[in-house]
Amino acid sequence: MTTMPTNIIDIFDLLADKSFAVQLRWIDDPLKLPASKGVYVLHLTLEHKTTITVGAMSEQTFEAGHYFYVGSAKGSGGLLARLSRHWRTDKAKKRHWHIDYLQDEMRLKGCWVTTDDHLSECELAEVFGKSECQAIGHLGSSDCDCPSHVFYLPFA
Ligand SMILES: [Zn+2]
Repeated sequence: MTTMPTNIIDIFDLLADKSFAVQLRWIDDPLKLPASKGVYVLHLTLEHKTTITVGAMSEQTFEAGHYFYVGSAKGSGGLLARLSRHWRTDKAKKRHWHIDYLQDEMRLKGCWVTTDDHLSECELAEVFGKSECQAIGHLGSSDCDCPSHVFYLPFA
């Protein structure tokens, strides 16, 4: 594994924290994704400051750094079906979610997943909201009351 900057280790620690009610598992190989339903956090990186137009929103400038997207896979095929899709990089892929637009420019490093249904994606977003990460307004949270489901952390 490549060396992670200190602040990213803090995020890993946050998610792997034993006192945290639910254990999240790091997966960087789509073949290892479980077919069960669950919630997940995508870890993406953006190499350079980039202007991205997300769906119907006005264009927005994204700083270089780490991005985290909190989502859930409640449909049939579970995490495997939902997350395999995020690993597809072909441009013909249909864009359904805000994250699809971000992924055109960002690199997917892997994801944390849990199949424990005691944790909702909004509760997980709340954990990020309390961390040193910065919430990126109204992305990925069109269907709930969270300020955002996308969080940013600068490169160390
Ligand atoms: Zn939410």
